[in-house]
Amino acid sequence: MAERMLKFVHVSQQTPEKRGVNERREDFNEIYRSYAQAQAAVQASRCSQCGVPFCSVHCPLGNHIPDWLKLTADNRLEEAYEVSSSTNNFPEICGRICPQDRLCEGNCVIEKGFESVTIGAVERYITDTAFERGWVRPVRPRRELPQSVGIIGAGPAGLSAGEQLRRQGYQVTVYDRYDRVGGLMIYGIPNFKLEKEIVLRRWKLLEEGGLRFVLNCEIGRDVTMAELRSRHDAVLIGTGVYKGRDIGGPGAGLPGIVKAMDYLTASNRHGLGDAVPEFASGQLDAKGRDVVVIGGGDTAMDCVRTAVRQGARSVTCLYRRDRANMPGSMREVNNAEEEGVDYAWLAAPEAFVGDDHVTGVRAVRMHLGLPDASGRQSVEPLEGSHFIAKADLVIKALGFDAEDLPAMFNEPDLAVTRWGTLKVNHRTFMTSLPGVFAAGDIVRGASLVVWAIRDGRDAAAQIHKYIQASNAALAAAAD
Ligand code: FAD
Ligand code: SF4
Ligand code: SF4
Repeated sequence: MAERMLKFVHVSQQTPEKRGVNERREDFNEIYRSYAQAQAAVQASRCSQCGVPFCSVHCPLGNHIPDWLKLTADNRLEEAYEVSSSTNNFPEICGRICPQDRLCEGNCVIEKGFESVTIGAVERYITDTAFERGWVRPVRPRRELPQSVGIIGAGPAGLSAGEQLRRQGYQVTVYDRYDRVGGLMIYGIPNFKLEKEIVLRRWKLLEEGGLRFVLNCEIGRDVTMAELRSRHDAVLIGTGVYKGRDIGGPGAGLPGIVKAMDYLTASNRHGLGDAVPEFASGQLDAKGRDVVVIGGGDTAMDCVRTAVRQGARSVTCLYRRDRANMPGSMREVNNAEEEGVDYAWLAAPEAFVGDDHVTGVRAVRMHLGLPDASGRQSVEPLEGSHFIAKADLVIKALGFDAEDLPAMFNEPDLAVTRWGTLKVNHRTFMTSLPGVFAAGDIVRGASLVVWAIRDGRDAAAQIHKYIQASNAALAAAAD
């Protein structure tokens, strides 16, 4: 073991510096500054180089974390980049937005008492440095293959699969109904978590590597699924989940109540310089408004923090459970609290108040009961505990479901689960339609970028096998 490592006993954890609250409330730039080289090396040297690295076991990509930490500690950054990018198509993105507290860092063995190695920040540092120094190059396949793969959806699942297939030499076309590449990484996740330049430079690199993008093209509307299947040797569906869960009750249809995705997309588009009429008209702009966000997941956290930056008068997050039972990452909850968001824990909306525009949310206090069959504590209303949260903008962030893909694609034989997500063979990633595969949120339900990358890579390997086997069968039949 190099004596450079194992420094956790003497060197304390130091996360990258966070910009001051007042400064970051004023803009949409990322809130964490980068490590300087010396800092990254020192933080990486805290790793104890475990024989069985639980950090890697709990990374969905099985990243070779101790290896690239050691190379970083030794200042062998180009090699660190080679190792880290061998298992991850977008390490600089995961380093920024993975909920590390639940994945790699939350399982680092020195976490207890000494605080984990700052794995995500080092991963980001390695790839940002690689970009700066020109080590990140487009895919250059060793041979070109005549077969082609059509990918529906330019989110992380589709892009990672596309890059892997291109590496093998396939002709890859990615279709997306949006005008930009990135899926939720471009229009869902706000700039203060993931600056859009980071996603745009990947788009450019993928194009330089030979991926073809057909944008503003909705499969099922502009091109039929049948047509797509006839164009390509295999098809991958990576369409994500976009149907925002709704909330009923009196007043639910009042103007001023909006969906989280509409709100976040408008903000991201505005930040990218697009003309967004709903933003310009104030409909999707929180400036000067009293904002209530309903929900407790990462999307809700992104909405409250976006509202703060847009200059809302007040921002309240209404969540029916307590802080400990929140699905959102604790890191993001803490960031939101620092930025001035009020949390109304154990509070559930019952009705929306207002005549011709929403003016408030009538909510009831809840208490946590006994765990239900899923092990989660049930929530019950406390009688007579109603209160009104003042709001002239209400954002619904209650999670997402899958759209009705069999209907959208006019493919009634496309099998779905009872949640509307696609049924796949979990070994081959193939759907019920021969030669049609699926990956990412459309299979898992709303999940994480890192899982979408993992699925995209695995699906690409299976598509390769499928095309090779089909070719072999054709050749045998011709003999
Ligand atoms: P998506 O990223 O949703 O991409 C799907 C693409 O398919 C889209 O570009 C869409 O336009 C396209 N498409 C859909 N239907 C069609 C069609 N019929 N024809 C053509 N194109 C189509 N994850 C994290 O790891 N960290 C985070 O901090 C985080 N924050 C999040 C914040 C928000 C607000 C949201 C909503 C999600 C967040 N996630 C986060 C989750 C993460 O973004 C998703 O799990 C991930 O993007 C899923 O990838 P995907 O490729 O499956 O789908
Ligand atoms: Fe951790 Fe995510 Fe990087 Fe894996 S990809 S090492 S989980 S930050
Ligand atoms: Fe290093 Fe922690 Fe991973 Fe062990 S679990 S290899 S100490 S980062």
